[in-house]
Amino acid sequence: MASCTYSVPNMNTSGDNLYGPHICYQPFIDYAWNVYGFSGNKNYWDDGFGWHDPCNSTKPLARAFNACWLLTYSANDYTNDSWSSPILNWGRRYVRNNIDDLRAKCGDGSAIAASFSGFFVNDRVELYLGFFYSKDVPGRAETLLHESRHQGGKSHNANFPSGSVFGSGSGADSSWGYNGAWMYGALYLWWFFAAGARTTSAMRQRARQRGNLVIDNAFASHPGYSI
Ligand SMILES: [Zn+2]
Repeated sequence: MASCTYSVPNMNTSGDNLYGPHICYQPFIDYAWNVYGFSGNKNYWDDGFGWHDPCNSTKPLARAFNACWLLTYSANDYTNDSWSSPILNWGRRYVRNNIDDLRAKCGDGSAIAASFSGFFVNDRVELYLGFFYSKDVPGRAETLLHESRHQGGKSHNANFPSGSVFGSGSGADSSWGYNGAWMYGALYLWWFFAAGARTTSAMRQRARQRGNLVIDNAFASHPGYSI
């Protein structure tokens, strides 16, 4: 892969300084590489993307690993990922089960991520610079859940509400009850705010803000909730 140019925002604010030391542990790196869809995609994660530098949280690969660590360990009882537990527990399992091909690309600079699936399509999720450098660590976990929901077969089914920060036209979910990609991401952020472990109150507050942004802007019919 080619290298792309980017600047690295404050790593205390994004949580990369908090999570970075946790991922710098070979057994975790091997685990994350193998279960979260990186495996087989070295060509998409080398050069400027960090394959040779997996502990360096200024690079895309480590910033993705930070989100994987958050997904893996943020439930207080993280060894329980049964479907009957909260999404804080099973979110990682849903992501692992649904994303088996995770690739890094530059994108257009502001794009976050995209999910590709269907007949004659190589099912995959692509992560772009916006994922690595405009989203904080909880927000990256939200994106992984969002895209995994698409890989799980759920598309967006509505237009954004008027005035949405996400723009206009298609790409929204009709309602909370549709159980779509936006709902999965927002529900995860809500639980992370309410009960996230091995993190800080600052990270949990950022998750709350992002969750409310999604609730207010990504559903054609406002869910009526506020985190
Ligand atoms: Zn989507």
